Amino acid sequence: MTVKDNLHKIQEEINAACQRSGRNSKDVKIIAVTKYVTVERTQEALDAGIIHIGENRSEGLIEKAQSVDIEPILHFIGSLQSKKVKNVVEHISYLHSLDRLSLAQEIQKRWQSPEPLKCFVQVNVSGEESKSGLKPNETIPFIQELAQFPAVQVVGLMTMAPFVENSEDTRPVFKKLRLLQQEVQALSLDHAPCTELSMGMSNDYIIAVEEGATFIRIGSSLVG
Ligand SMILES: *Cc1c(COP(=O)(O)O)cnc(C)c1O
Repeated sequence: MTVKDNLHKIQEEINAACQRSGRNSKDVKIIAVTKYVTVERTQEALDAGIIHIGENRSEGLIEKAQSVDIEPILHFIGSLQSKKVKNVVEHISYLHSLDRLSLAQEIQKRWQSPEPLKCFVQVNVSGEESKSGLKPNETIPFIQELAQFPAVQVVGLMTMAPFVENSEDTRPVFKKLRLLQQEVQALSLDHAPCTELSMGMSNDYIIAVEEGATFIRIGSSLVG
């Protein structure tokens, strides 16, 4: 399948999910996760109109950043080791995996731009041991502590739902992240507007959109 065909199908699903939940489909941005695919396939995604590209390894991110001929908005979506921060930050517009103060500290040290780096705080809503992220009840104290790092702006929360047979079973996870996001937003912290929700992958993005996702991260069903 071409990326264009896949994108068309996904966009229709998003439109329908938005209609069901009373949302505007313009508020849902698609990040094409290119971690499994080549530079050529990534270029095909950009040619099909994709603007946002996500990678979970610094090597893949840098390779794509340097090889495509349309400049995408790059998102780092995987766990980020502190020692890799200096290689990654110059390329990215968003970090989806802020999960510890030592990482914020490293970003503070390496970030060059006058504008802060847009970060999502990753929350492990499901509590699965294999997943990274903060516990829901640690999230607000953590975000409050981030005020000491002016290079970090908390634009939203991110989660990965468990992989389940029936995607409907992911709904409580997404709902819980949305309630937490609204709680943070209500604090009106200068460094944490927290208006965005990064949630939903190939298997569960329709449910995530119904529950308020503003960024969905799609790999296999969009680019392969
Ligand atoms: C790989 C990955 C995705 C995309 O997964 P698909 O199931 O292929 O859509 C989304 N988010 C994160 C954090 C990932 O690592």
